[in-house]
Amino acid sequence: MKINLMDFSCEELKKLATELGQPAFRGKQLYEWIYKGAESFDDMTNISKEFRQKLDEIAVIGNAKISEKYVSKIDETRKYLLELDDGNFIESVLMKYEYGYTICVSSQVGCKMGCRFCASTLNGWSRNLSPGEILSQVLCVQKDLGQRISNIVMMGIGEPLDNFDNVLKFVELVNAPGGLNIGQRHISISTCGLADKIRILAEKNLQITLLISLHAPDDERRSGIMPVNNRFNISELMSACDYYIEKSGRRISFEYTLISGVNDNLEEADVLAGLLRGKLCHVNLIPVNKVKETGFDKSSRKRVDEFRNRLEKRGISATVRREMGSDINAACGQLRNRKSNIPTE
Ligand code: SAH
Repeated sequence: MKINLMDFSCEELKKLATELGQPAFRGKQLYEWIYKGAESFDDMTNISKEFRQKLDEIAVIGNAKISEKYVSKIDETRKYLLELDDGNFIESVLMKYEYGYTICVSSQVGCKMGCRFCASTLNGWSRNLSPGEILSQVLCVQKDLGQRISNIVMMGIGEPLDNFDNVLKFVELVNAPGGLNIGQRHISISTCGLADKIRILAEKNLQITLLISLHAPDDERRSGIMPVNNRFNISELMSACDYYIEKSGRRISFEYTLISGVNDNLEEADVLAGLLRGKLCHVNLIPVNKVKETGFDKSSRKRVDEFRNRLEKRGISATVRREMGSDINAACGQLRNRKSNIPTE
């Protein structure tokens, strides 16, 4: 198997160059070409032909390639189905906000977590993405857009903390000043609640934003829609969150997707408020995206507002997440499923 140069930091590429009998600055040149969007070694005109041939034998620039692209006419949101070197497909979504462009990237091919409302997990998990494959989503979409992407959310296909080391390496890569130079405060990682990994993440002293997919305020209901709750229950999850807040000093955001008749009673808002009372946190409410197989429907707009008001009344700050790209609606995982002939809508 060839190595993927996108997995390497600038320092690592310099080391690689010297190991291949080249001066270290060749590694820096390689690095610059990769971030300039070079797709093959032929593009690298300031590197000798001999060295390019050598690289071609042992390495690839493991770029994701655009297979399908949908652009919303309402808000310019773009959804991409990307093909990896081994023929697997993943999805990335680009959103435009006042403060710049945000990309939502995938961390795995498929997902093991089994959340009942989620399309990404319907066909299970195939493999982890390498750090370079996560990075290549940003580079590929940025090249297509022709403008700088300033924020990253890891909310695409997969569970980032189930691919812990590669996700951390990815954060290091996008953070690098000579590369994309995206600050940690502009990076969010969303997890379904792997409490053991949240504790390890807390030790890393990062400035990233942690998002927790909570979706229900008590164990019975949460286990009913999120099997991960049988591994780490709400009390274990909350204690890991407290530890994270204490260590990082950063506010945590709790994601709560509102599903009609499942988790959207106002009494559940009360229990949720009790659970989060006193925590440095915020709640994002998201009307569930319909995925045919799951049979779940979104809560009414009225109920969403009532739920939010109830939380606010009890002192918990909450916002309703704006739905974006609703005319190209393909909730996470649906494009990939269709491409892989896994029936969805
Ligand atoms: N595995 C991570 C990140 C990927 S999912 C996690 O669970 O957080 C990103 C977010 O989308 C999560 O909050 C997830 O619960 C939510 N989500 C998944 N399917 C959804 C759907 N059909 N409608 C609304 N949100 C959904």
